[in-house]
Amino acid sequence: MVDTMTKADIIDGKAFAQDLRARVAEVAADFEAMAGRKAGLAVVLVGEDPASQVYVRNKGKQTVACGMESFEHKLPADTNEADLLALVERLNADPAVDGILVQLPLPSHMNEQKVIATIDPDKDVDGFHVVNVGRLATGLPGFVPCTPLGCVMLLKDKLGSLSGLDAVVIGRSNIVGKPMAQLLIAESCTVTVAHSRTKDLPAVVRRADIVVAAVGRPEMVKGDWLKPGATVIDVGINRVPAAEEGKTKLVGDVDFASAAEVAGAITPVPGGVGPMTIAVLLRNTVVAAHRNAGIALEEGAL
Ligand code: NAD
Repeated sequence: MVDTMTKADIIDGKAFAQDLRARVAEVAADFEAMAGRKAGLAVVLVGEDPASQVYVRNKGKQTVACGMESFEHKLPADTNEADLLALVERLNADPAVDGILVQLPLPSHMNEQKVIATIDPDKDVDGFHVVNVGRLATGLPGFVPCTPLGCVMLLKDKLGSLSGLDAVVIGRSNIVGKPMAQLLIAESCTVTVAHSRTKDLPAVVRRADIVVAAVGRPEMVKGDWLKPGATVIDVGINRVPAAEEGKTKLVGDVDFASAAEVAGAITPVPGGVGPMTIAVLLRNTVVAAHRNAGIALEEGAL
């Protein structure tokens, strides 16, 4: 599928995610042998959003495939916030549950911040609780949001040390842009966060050795915005009409065809960042299991 004119190396997130899941499975098996129980992930879904149902099903399947326990809780869309909070409290107290994930978005009658704040920070494998946000910002061990952590893993795999590199993160969401910037600072990059109010975005992007695009605008970043040889991580997942009538396709926030002519390396969409998110979630869950059980995890095992 990749154009033979492409100059950039293609960063294969699908293969990396598969390797990571295999390592998680090994660590999960060792954990079970030591702890006498499997690591467990509870996923809570409120309502019938079709995309969320697919995510939750995939998370459950991959959790089990890695030798961990999956607990799925599906609640109707009209569930009271108090009932959801009570479920989260029960999961907090359940010793079989190491990680808790409440699938977002929640129905509009619920306060997402309040629900996230109810999750025990040491079971918050999504890394969205303010305690984990604070731990990331101050360099303490905690849980880091899965998508940006997956991006850093791909970057380090491709580039080795990121120290001293100029990085531009486009997007400042709590889920991707802000934690991505924190992680790159921790890797000793010089980080610029660009967003919808940034002036002359192409000029800002042209300074970067590393570009992370997390915007949600199909093919916005063009090849002529890039410094030649830059490494481009495309977080965007946008569904757009395909050439064939009535069909759709997925594209990223980067115009792959023009960017691949200039970049040194680039993630494709699909098959780049996307597969990393669940793999990192499973990684975070098995790390949580070790912490909760007081079992040391070998440095660098995951
Ligand atoms: P968001 O809507 O919360 O944030 C988008 C950010 O882009 C905002 O901070 C905004 O300031 C910035 N922005 C908007 N228009 C801009 C413009 N014209 N120029 C510069 N910046 C602009 O989105 P999000 O949750 O961070 O997700 C971003 C993209 O990443 C989406 O396509 C989403 O589907 C995708 N995503 C993928 C994964 C995954 O791969 N697993 C996970 C999360 C999000």
